[in-house]
Amino acid sequence: MRLTPILAALAAIAWVVALAINTRSKADLAFSPPGEALRERSIGSTEGLSTELRRAFHAGAAFDPIEAPGPSDWLAGQREPGQTYDQFIRTPRNRPDGARDTIYLQPLGLFDADERYPTLEQMTEYARAFFAMEVERLPTLPLGAVGETSREHGGRRQWLTGDLLEGLAERVPADAYCVLAITMADLYPDPAWNYVFGMASLRERVGVFSFARHDPAFYLGGRKPGWEALMLERNCKVLTHEIGHMFAITHCIYFQCLMNGSNHLAESDSKPLHLCPCCLRKLHRSVGFDPGARYAKLAGFLSANGLAEQGRWFAERSKVVDAD
Ligand SMILES: [Zn+2]
Ligand SMILES: [Zn+2]
Repeated sequence: MRLTPILAALAAIAWVVALAINTRSKADLAFSPPGEALRERSIGSTEGLSTELRRAFHAGAAFDPIEAPGPSDWLAGQREPGQTYDQFIRTPRNRPDGARDTIYLQPLGLFDADERYPTLEQMTEYARAFFAMEVERLPTLPLGAVGETSREHGGRRQWLTGDLLEGLAERVPADAYCVLAITMADLYPDPAWNYVFGMASLRERVGVFSFARHDPAFYLGGRKPGWEALMLERNCKVLTHEIGHMFAITHCIYFQCLMNGSNHLAESDSKPLHLCPCCLRKLHRSVGFDPGARYAKLAGFLSANGLAEQGRWFAERSKVVDAD
C-alpha cells in the first residue's frame, strides 16, 4: 500500500459529511442564528447588478433564516465560522474554465440492483440542471478497482474513503472540473469510526459518497410508500451539497440552505434542496448561469420525478426572478 499518497490525500481532506458520531454539545460551541443584518451582509452588496440578479440574490420571504440546532445537530457540535460572499470571492479556489469544464460522476460497484432506485441518469440530469454545467457519467467501476481496503463491520462490507479518494485522484480526466464517486456500498474514514456518509478532497478535486444509508430499507421500519421519491431527494441533495464544496463553498450558517452541515439523516432531511441567496451568488460567480432559467429547469425535473412540492418552490422562484 502506498502510504505517502494516502497520507497526502488524508491531509487534503476538506470535509467529512454528516458524521453520525459527533454529539458533543459544549457552551463554547454554542451557535446562535445570525440576525437579519448579518444575513443581509452575507450576500454582499448587489448594487450595479442587473435587475434579474438583484432579484435572485435578494433575501426575501422564500428564504428562511437558519434554525437554532437541536442537541445532536451539526451546529451543536461543530464550530462553523461561516463564509460570506465577500470572503468567498477573496478565497483562492478552483473555477471551471475552458480546459476543466465537466463534472464527472463515477459510479462504484453495483448500483441499479433494485430497479426502483433513483437511476444514475436521473441524478446526472439533476446535477446538470443544478450546476448549469456539463455533467457526464464515467463507466461503472468495481470498488476494488479504485480502493484496496475494506472491512466487515456490523454485518456489512465497508470501504475505506481515503483509499478510494487516492484511487480516484489517479483517474481524473483531463477536462474534469471534479470527479464525484457515488456508491451504494457503505464507507468508513478510519478504523475507529463506525461509518461515514462521504468525504472529499478539494485539492485533488475528487469526492466519494455513499447512498447506502439513504434507503429506508437500511433501517428498522424499512421502506414506506413514496420511498423512491424520498431516496431520489436525498441523493440529489447530497450530490449537489458535495459538489457545492468542490466550488469552495463552505457550510452555510445564515439561511436554511442546501449547504448547511448535517450530523444525521433526519437533520439532512430537514434541509432544503435549494441554495440560499448567499450560496447561490457564490455558485453564480463560479459558473455564471441565468438564474431564472436554472430555477425553471430544476422545477421541471422535480415535478417530473415525483417531487412536485419541492418543484413548486423552484417554479415560484423562476417566476419571481424573471418577472417583468
Ligand atoms: Zn458538507
Ligand atoms: Zn447558504
